[in-house]
Amino acid sequence: MLYVSTRNTEEKVSASQAILKGLAENSGLYVPEQIPALDLPIEKLTDLTYQETAYEVMKLFFTDFTEEELKKCIENAYDEKFDTKEIAPLVKAQGSYYLELFHGSTIAFKDMALSILPHLLTTAAKKNQVKNEIVILTATSGDTGKAALAGFAGVEGTKIIVFYPKDGVSPIQKKQMVTQKGENTLVVGINGNFDQAQTGVKQMFSDQALAQELAAAGYQFSSANSINIGRLVPQIVYYVYAYAKMVKSEEIADGDHINVVVPTGNFGNILAAFYAKNMGLPIGKLICASNENKVLYDFFATGTYDRNREFILTSSPSMDILISSNLERLIYRIAGNDGEKNQKLMRELQEQGKYEITEAMREQLSGFYGNYADEAETAAVIREIYQEAGYIIDTHTAVAAAVYKKYQKETGDTTKTVIASTASPYKFTRSVMTAIDQKYQDKPDFDLVDELEALSGVTVPRAIEEIRTAEVRHKKICEVEEMQSVVKDFLLQ
Ligand SMILES: *Cc1c(COP(=O)(O)O)cnc(C)c1O
Repeated sequence: MLYVSTRNTEEKVSASQAILKGLAENSGLYVPEQIPALDLPIEKLTDLTYQETAYEVMKLFFTDFTEEELKKCIENAYDEKFDTKEIAPLVKAQGSYYLELFHGSTIAFKDMALSILPHLLTTAAKKNQVKNEIVILTATSGDTGKAALAGFAGVEGTKIIVFYPKDGVSPIQKKQMVTQKGENTLVVGINGNFDQAQTGVKQMFSDQALAQELAAAGYQFSSANSINIGRLVPQIVYYVYAYAKMVKSEEIADGDHINVVVPTGNFGNILAAFYAKNMGLPIGKLICASNENKVLYDFFATGTYDRNREFILTSSPSMDILISSNLERLIYRIAGNDGEKNQKLMRELQEQGKYEITEAMREQLSGFYGNYADEAETAAVIREIYQEAGYIIDTHTAVAAAVYKKYQKETGDTTKTVIASTASPYKFTRSVMTAIDQKYQDKPDFDLVDELEALSGVTVPRAIEEIRTAEVRHKKICEVEEMQSVVKDFLLQ
């Protein structure tokens, strides 16, 4: 299987090359030429472990990896770093199925893909006789940064540089990043928001002069952002796994449809669900949940994607995004896999901050439902699910739960529904605890951690215990315009 660029279908590369490069020429994204069909029947999948399911899915996409290589990557990724053998447990509350994707080392769903990406990437480098050291350059709205740092810290032949919006991440997210150990790591706050960080990173990726300068010093960039196909594919796995588990536990019969709700930012997680559906997994509606940065809701409602609006800081910072990069892969597809047509729209997005899709393209979006939840609705649903089911969800998952309630009310659809639970409530302790009761407002962060443990009965995760007393190692803050010189200083001196 080959991968083509969403902006130029003449550009074709192997899976390992797509993983290595991250981004195609002209800032295009790599997509598989066609989406493969699941080749095992569900009744076979029900008996597989997470790792075995991962192999069955990934082998269909990463066709130039040998069985041995791929299995080794999978084993190294989904091991004791996860605090449960199930890797992604399914928890039933209030009639919905919460797919808990936060049992990895940084307690957010980014671990699902970023625990395997370093292994895929170093394997890909070997396969392609790459001699340069790989530099992972990443912009983060909070969770990617830490998960990428955890994945790449100390990995030989790599360096990792993470930019985060100085005031746009939660206190715990920030502490997790700035305490990162490892000589090959650099964490920098920027005076700007996530979109500015992401744009700065994208510019560095497409800067040929910079690439040459770095190559001369023995470096080349790669991306750990969710635009890397090496992140997207591992995310397909848990939808297949969740479905098989529901069949096995007789919550559904083989072939029954399920709906999937995804709290969405960069559109990576929900795109993985869309790919799973296209592989033949019986998924009904793909419910795209946004916070107050509801650019995707407006897009599904009107067919116009318009990022010209105020950027709002919310209690679900990992979804505070106005340019959902992975949407481009969907646009490319509904444009009839037409690279030129897609590129035209993306140019409009870059130049005018918006684009409008055609009626024919819109018709292909009927499998999606978009809505959003504001801050009050998000807090209310956390409180309600805690009070009624004794289950505590984080702010991102709460956006999904609130949107799902709107969907149910609007449609009366009773299809069994999986809600992607993307972070541990421990990662957003302050927002979660004050949603449950305002009385927690004035308590220090780590007191709230202990209060959350008492309320939820869930033991404080290792990831939180670790940062209670950890030393701050990364204090650098820079302006958006300085990002490139910060990178050069780190690598070239
Ligand atoms: C990254 C993230 C999201 C958004 O996922 P996308 O793939 O970017 O849409 C949602 N919730 C949490 C906790 C995240 O870290």
